[in-house]
Amino acid sequence: MKIHEYQGKEILRQFGVPTPRGSACFSVIDAVAAAQSLGGNAWVVKAQIHAGGRGKGGGVKVVRSLEEVRRAAQQILGMHLVTHQTGKDGQVVRRLLIEEGAVIAKEFYLGMVIDRSRQRVALLASSEGGMEIEEVAAHHPEKIHKLWIDPVEGLVATDAARVAKKIGIPDEAINEAVLILQGLYRAFVEKDAMLAEINPLVLTADNRVLALDAKFNFDSNALYRHPEVVAYRDLDEEDAAEIEASKFDLSYISLDGDIGCLVNGAGLAMATMDIIKLYGGSPANFLDVGGGASKEKVTEAFKLMLKNPNLKAILVNIFGGIMKCDVIAEGVVAAAREVHLAVPLVVRLEGTNVELGKKILAESGLPIISGSDMADAAQKVVVAAKENQ
Ligand code: ADP
Ligand code: MG
Repeated sequence: MKIHEYQGKEILRQFGVPTPRGSACFSVIDAVAAAQSLGGNAWVVKAQIHAGGRGKGGGVKVVRSLEEVRRAAQQILGMHLVTHQTGKDGQVVRRLLIEEGAVIAKEFYLGMVIDRSRQRVALLASSEGGMEIEEVAAHHPEKIHKLWIDPVEGLVATDAARVAKKIGIPDEAINEAVLILQGLYRAFVEKDAMLAEINPLVLTADNRVLALDAKFNFDSNALYRHPEVVAYRDLDEEDAAEIEASKFDLSYISLDGDIGCLVNGAGLAMATMDIIKLYGGSPANFLDVGGGASKEKVTEAFKLMLKNPNLKAILVNIFGGIMKCDVIAEGVVAAAREVHLAVPLVVRLEGTNVELGKKILAESGLPIISGSDMADAAQKVVVAAKENQ
């Protein structure tokens, strides 16, 4: 689960990482008032969306008067901000962060991710702050310093100091940088993050170190123990179909193809997407209804898939183990009756109660194309989708 920059900064502050003072705003009037109460003579008006690269896309503006704050806020609020992470349609800006402008002497990069192969949190640090880390990795890999943190010892001060020195933090600011690195690590572990990034971390003209940006991504499987993180969730930033799916405890991911897939089990769902690709088609979604889904859950899953305007055909691919084929069949029939089914439907059923499942489908009167096995079903759905273009 992702959060906004201003929320990330709230977390950072709780772990002793200094950030500029600032506040989140939802209107132009609030933005001006926020700047006024911050005081000073330089502010930054920042679009809050769940994507990076906002600066380049025109979503971050440094301004020097309240009038400029007003103008920048007016410009950014409501804009479709397009960055390399949003896709071509961009993301509508509904929130702003108004914060103090920092006097930047130098920008650095700090990031933490989980390195599964080493079973440790990896700290990445670079002297090349403010740019995309992927760019630095591509052109100057030697400028990225890595440290794999021992989970028992945690981030030791001497290791943190060595990294800080390597990226060019001056001696006077090393102690502060160490506290920041340790704070970021504690935040990462205690909040069950999967990714945390401060880009840029800056050295100010008076040798202070500050986090000017904050990005977090949390492990959704650990959210049950972090209600305070769940409270940060912003549904406006998430895919509508995926939100709906999470209400019914369905694993659903929107994709950009045109063949809807309703499958049980994540492994089979992935294999189904692969075989559709193999035969020249393109999946519209990943959908795993799970092992013991009820008829209601299958109905909701089916309806969800049908909401996709790009849908040209559907493949239901079920291997009934715990999941019974007749339950799936009943869900499919119920959903198809509730919503007008305007695209071809290919079904492949195998396993527990398969005969009963097939009977329910046959007696439903729905125009179902039946697949004898996975390859046959995949080929049929690819053809059906092409014919339905
Ligand atoms: P993004 O990574 O989405 O482009 P950032 O928060 O990193 O957004 O902002 C982009 C750039 O704007 C930063 O690299 C920094 O140079 C500048 N910037 C951001 N916040 C401030 C601030 N409070 N004071 C001064 N400059 C800032
Ligand atoms: Mg940034």
